Amino acid sequence: MFRYLPLACAAVMSALPAAALSPDHPQVRTVANSQPLTGVVIGIDPGHNGRNYTDPAYLNHQVWNGREYEDCDTTGTETNGGYPEPRFTWRVAVALRHDLEALGATVVMTRHSNHGKGPCVDERAHILNRAHSVVAIDIHADGGPSSGRGFAILEPVRDKQNRHVIKSSERFGRILRAAMLEHTSMPVSTYDGTNGVTHRSDLAGLNLAKEPKVLIECGNMRNGTDARKLTAKAFQHRLARTFVDAIQQFLS
Ligand code: ZN
Repeated sequence: MFRYLPLACAAVMSALPAAALSPDHPQVRTVANSQPLTGVVIGIDPGHNGRNYTDPAYLNHQVWNGREYEDCDTTGTETNGGYPEPRFTWRVAVALRHDLEALGATVVMTRHSNHGKGPCVDERAHILNRAHSVVAIDIHADGGPSSGRGFAILEPVRDKQNRHVIKSSERFGRILRAAMLEHTSMPVSTYDGTNGVTHRSDLAGLNLAKEPKVLIECGNMRNGTDARKLTAKAFQHRLARTFVDAIQQFLS
């Protein structure tokens, strides 16, 4: 049910060797088709880190988010059963990296395990900028009111740093929202934003982005129904495949 686009994308095609596109080399074309994201750099920011809680002073130190100072990061939220958000974001990110790399993409992550602390939110944005990722996704899950359900897509507000990627980020957000509704059983948020979309000017990850980027709160960890989904391995993998689908649509 997921659309893996063949060689339809100009950006992807330009990254392929000429022989791969030649009708005289059908066997080469077959190989190229299985890795349509070859040469494409994609950024993944799995929110928080598994041991952030060990160092409050580090988390509380102030970093510049492009508009104002904010905390380096937080511990993230957790389900009422104690399943932590950093573990969720890490597992979805690892599955997403696996699926993207299988399609030939070069994946840049902002952290490399779930056993450390940091980096801070500003540095996460800089990592993805320095890698020249063509699109990026910040993965989170929310700690909302227990009666609230659903996912929300957080989009950037124009500022000095991100002014060239506002429209493209909004387009990516629209595609991602539609993919979530098509491929997952998670509804749009009942309490955050409007129809699952909200604009945020207080987040370093969006203010400092130089590539098209959105942040997704995949659901509400404090709601029992959402929490059962978010902590299930099958749902985490479904989210990853949904993100792949959205990324491929965005690049096509
Ligand atoms: Zn978070």
